[in-house]
Amino acid sequence: RQAQYRALVAVDPVTKDGKQINLQMNAGLLVDLPHLAESGALGIGLFRTELQFMIASTMPKAEEQEGFYRSVLKQAAGRPVTFRTLDIGGDKVVPYFRGTDEENPALGWRAVRLSLDRPGLLRTQLRAMLRAAAGGELRLMVPMVTEVAELREVRGLLQKEIERQSKIGEQLPKKLQFGAMLEVPALLWQLDELMTEVDFVSVGSNDLFQFTMAVDRGNARVSDRFDILGRPFLRVLRDIVRAGERHATPVTLCGEMAGKPISAMALLGLGFRSVSMSATALGPVKAMLLSLEADKLGVVMEEALNDTRPVRSVRQILTDFAAENG
Ligand code: PEP
Ligand code: MG
Repeated sequence: RQAQYRALVAVDPVTKDGKQINLQMNAGLLVDLPHLAESGALGIGLFRTELQFMIASTMPKAEEQEGFYRSVLKQAAGRPVTFRTLDIGGDKVVPYFRGTDEENPALGWRAVRLSLDRPGLLRTQLRAMLRAAAGGELRLMVPMVTEVAELREVRGLLQKEIERQSKIGEQLPKKLQFGAMLEVPALLWQLDELMTEVDFVSVGSNDLFQFTMAVDRGNARVSDRFDILGRPFLRVLRDIVRAGERHATPVTLCGEMAGKPISAMALLGLGFRSVSMSATALGPVKAMLLSLEADKLGVVMEEALNDTRPVRSVRQILTDFAAENG
């Protein structure tokens, strides 16, 4: 098996019917970087910047952040890296940064909410990213967005940092791509505004599933109760793909489901052409997609999701499809 996956590293991720898939990996620390070349990932679709903060004993200084992003980009050697701005709070605890005790941390003061309330922290990070990517491409995305207005606020701060850098004569990134993570259900009713506001969208299916189904992602007793391949959640994902197509805004999915062959199959059937997963998942997912006819599966998925009195679960339908189509 391992040898079989190793043989696929240099193989282009293209489905049997010729659909090019942007297979990327998730990362958060420098130790992850060697996996980029080893796994054959085309880029880093999610770089969790909070990990540098979580393993430190004090707040990383501006220069440390910049140096870190610089090393990441250097080691990525031209493959695109999508940095996510700080996603602390909720399940991501930074010991030296204590908010108030919260009864519902998942719904609390976290991620972009915290960043907008502590703009100094966010501006330091944005400046570090701008400087590290000077002369190259900077891709950044914002976690836990609830209202499109929050994105405009972050963009405003980014603009201030860009102006500051150019005023003092610093080189800027040649290309800037600004994106949002879609992981809060409220954004589903702002899809048209969202898709026109950003350069790309990345679905955080771990949190989106948690908030859509009202199940704590860390509590197996309830999170295993509902199938991520159940019709309700897949219909949500279908709406997101369609909105992306309407506006020609690229949509990626970077949650854990992208790394399981059967759910990755569901994503391709829904029309996702870009996914990001843990490095170890790349081999099995690539092996799956090389043997897949995406359009044929698309028809099957569409039928499965339109079925209001289903006999088989979507998971079963996908399993049967895989068995019948090699
Ligand atoms: C997600 O929520 O799906 C996601 C990719 O982000 P994280 O797991 O870091 O919350
Ligand atoms: Mg998340």
